Amino acid sequence: MRRPLLLALLITGTFAHAQKNLHEKAIVVDTHNDVLSSATMKGLNIEDDLRGKTHSDINRFRRGGIDLQVFSIFCDEKYGKGTAFNYALREIDSLDAIVARNPARMMAVNTVADLRTAVRKRLVGAMKGVEGGHMIEDSMLYLDSLYKRGARYLTLTWNNSTSWASSAWDETYFDQGKPTPIKQKGLNDFGRQVVRHMNELGMLVDLSHVGKQTFFDALAASTKPVLVSHSCVYAICPVPRNLTDEQIIAIGKNGGVIHLNFYSGFLDSSFNRRREAFQDSHKGEVDSLKATGMPSYSIDEWISRKYAEEAEQLRPGMNLLLDHLDHIVRLIGVNHVGLGSDFDGIDSSPLDLNGVEDMPNITSALLLRGYSKKDIRKILGGNFIRLLKANER
Ligand SMILES: [Zn+2]
Repeated sequence: MRRPLLLALLITGTFAHAQKNLHEKAIVVDTHNDVLSSATMKGLNIEDDLRGKTHSDINRFRRGGIDLQVFSIFCDEKYGKGTAFNYALREIDSLDAIVARNPARMMAVNTVADLRTAVRKRLVGAMKGVEGGHMIEDSMLYLDSLYKRGARYLTLTWNNSTSWASSAWDETYFDQGKPTPIKQKGLNDFGRQVVRHMNELGMLVDLSHVGKQTFFDALAASTKPVLVSHSCVYAICPVPRNLTDEQIIAIGKNGGVIHLNFYSGFLDSSFNRRREAFQDSHKGEVDSLKATGMPSYSIDEWISRKYAEEAEQLRPGMNLLLDHLDHIVRLIGVNHVGLGSDFDGIDSSPLDLNGVEDMPNITSALLLRGYSKKDIRKILGGNFIRLLKANER
């Protein structure tokens, strides 16, 4: 009995070594993390050990082997004309301050060349992405300012539409004849100008959250390959903001990259039904929270925290994330997929992906699925680097 055990240990040991080596040497990029808006703006500091409180902090980015983290600059639809742009600037200020205070752990990354420097110096590269076109407040000057402050992508819409681009949710309501603020779907003339101006600036056009019509209008207007920073596959989990096969194929033709979101509700088609049952079992509390005017995503988070053991049962396995990845690879190949965790913007993630420190588990899972080292390096970051380079001026 001792020999097979020894052999098993040797194989496991060799695998663990290969995995560790590959993950450490690869350039690992995550295109979406919400810790700035969900924690930093509420007084938590990612310079501290935030284990048990958040998905992310600086030391855990390092433990997760992350070379480039794109931090989402985000405010919701309650902010608009006169407030949204300023809120975005305050978030940018706070990230810049964190980076400036931590030169031994982090550096600002705005270009591929900066990223190479961060990798060489073994620092966590910090890039900014603005999540929601409402933050430019219909002003091309504000778009320029955000670019100058380091924003390297703009998600054309969040869940709310702008006057120039319709979101996935609003397009869905529009098609169903339900009340929605939009009068038509897609990009208008100003929206097409925004896309073209982003191309000129060297700012990635991010198509997560946008409606299908906006998606295809933006692809038609863009002269550069586009980003999908944190979305999953509709064929596996049909929620309005996941990508249909038609959309995935279009990204392949455009040369863009789809970065997978780790949210259980975008990965697992049974999650929303199971979570509804969970929330129904705490209906009294949910209703009293609703009565306070708390947004639904905060209620989800609050209930999940209070009944952590029950929420834990709802989490899918990490293999499901790999199923989404395989689906995209089968349709358009391995050059168009990456990771966009949405950590700290989501209240449930797959088992084995508890926070940014668990990124190496993805490398293990990719190896176990038979992906080559070369392909794994593309998925972890190589594809995003190619995309960023193709968009740089
Ligand atoms: Zn988002």
